[in-house]
Amino acid sequence: MSNHPLVWDLVERKRDAFVDLSDRVWETPETCYMETQSAAAHRQMLATQGFRITDNVASIPTALVGEAGDGGPVIAFLGEYDALAGLSQKSGAVAHEPLIAGANGHGCGHNLLGSASLLAATAMKDWLEQTGTPGRVRYYGCPAEEGGAAKAFMVRAGAFDDVDIAISWHPSNFAGVQRETSLANCRIDFEFFGRAAHAAAVPELGRSSLDAVELMSVGVNYMREHMHSDCRIHYAVLDSGGISPNVVQAYAKVRYVVRAPDLSGLFALIERVKKVAEGAALMTETRMESTVLAGVSNLIVNTPLMDAMQGVWESLGPAAFDQADIAFAEQIRATLTPEDIAASWNQERLDQRDIPLTDFILPPHNEVRQMGGSTDVGDVSWVVPTVQAYGPTLAIGTQLHTWQVVAQGQSPLAHKGMVATAKVMAATGLAALQSADLREAAWVDLKRRRKGQDYISPIPEGAEPPVAAMTVK
Ligand SMILES: [Zn+2]
Repeated sequence: MSNHPLVWDLVERKRDAFVDLSDRVWETPETCYMETQSAAAHRQMLATQGFRITDNVASIPTALVGEAGDGGPVIAFLGEYDALAGLSQKSGAVAHEPLIAGANGHGCGHNLLGSASLLAATAMKDWLEQTGTPGRVRYYGCPAEEGGAAKAFMVRAGAFDDVDIAISWHPSNFAGVQRETSLANCRIDFEFFGRAAHAAAVPELGRSSLDAVELMSVGVNYMREHMHSDCRIHYAVLDSGGISPNVVQAYAKVRYVVRAPDLSGLFALIERVKKVAEGAALMTETRMESTVLAGVSNLIVNTPLMDAMQGVWESLGPAAFDQADIAFAEQIRATLTPEDIAASWNQERLDQRDIPLTDFILPPHNEVRQMGGSTDVGDVSWVVPTVQAYGPTLAIGTQLHTWQVVAQGQSPLAHKGMVATAKVMAATGLAALQSADLREAAWVDLKRRRKGQDYISPIPEGAEPPVAAMTVK
């Protein structure tokens, strides 16, 4: 613990530059593999801070890695900077007011996410230099977390092969350690090829691809009764075969997202969904082709690293919010429903309190809790012991992917939460760098949790990052 004040001071000294980076990324919200300006801003900061930069990681133009230090273990900080479509919102406004109607917005707080991770990496770099300690620190600039699975492509390309420990965080209502696992998922397009015909004159000559899509949905909906209740399947019809009811639809396309608590369960469920698709093709005398676009693995948590990070949070204490922060959070809270607020407390199994901003550190627990969604951090967590913080950057009750997240993204309260989390990540990284025992325990825990399973990428061989196909997610 004795090194914490020094690395915290190193974070504090550079806070303004990184708050500015976060604010600039907020101003240029870019989605899924299109984060050109955001990645360039991170690249520029890496160069300013003196990192050795690798561009175009895993052949992704907006993925980059910065490294500093020599020898020793490799500590990785994962950052993100992608935004979401349709969530444009005025900064600091306490009502839904898009800046530009229909435009992108940072509805998941990834402007803060990338900046705090890079700040933590920079503080650790400065610490290595000041103390002359061997060791390497890396910042991974990871695009397309929202639906693009960039980290899974980066893992497949070997970008994490020599990493000892990986650390990240996510903007949140609370301060603490992320202890929930997430679902593995896979995005698959199913295309059906039929035969067009006049739907009234010669319907017997037509073979409808739209029928195949509908029958596939019916089949999958019946299958839900007979799958694990933690699994999820959603779909969207991307092409229903045209707008003319009097033409038998010769082509149709449906996109499925299949989710399961672990990789083996995911692969098994995908096979069942494919059988349903084949059945639909058989029934309609159409031809079916399926293409896996992207996939992510379930998240594997790590007890020794979670314990280490918990200790750091408890020694740092909660972020020091002031009266102005509390007043702003109160105004945001007034836009939330009682259900929104209750959901945030329930998620953490905590008794609800009447506070707009957190004033405590989440208590530790060792239950296995499943988070509904998925993250591409999951793939990193299969190949490197990984730990993530929750950083308090949002009024309690704020749900991710909403305008309220965008409205708070440049606020002083978000800046305070981001800097506090950078301190926690930097000190946790330092603990891992300095303790071979902690690193060893983290690897033992990872192997135990993998239960002998090898990491198999959920992305099929030959599939490339969908850089060009990102307009339809
Ligand atoms: Zn997010």
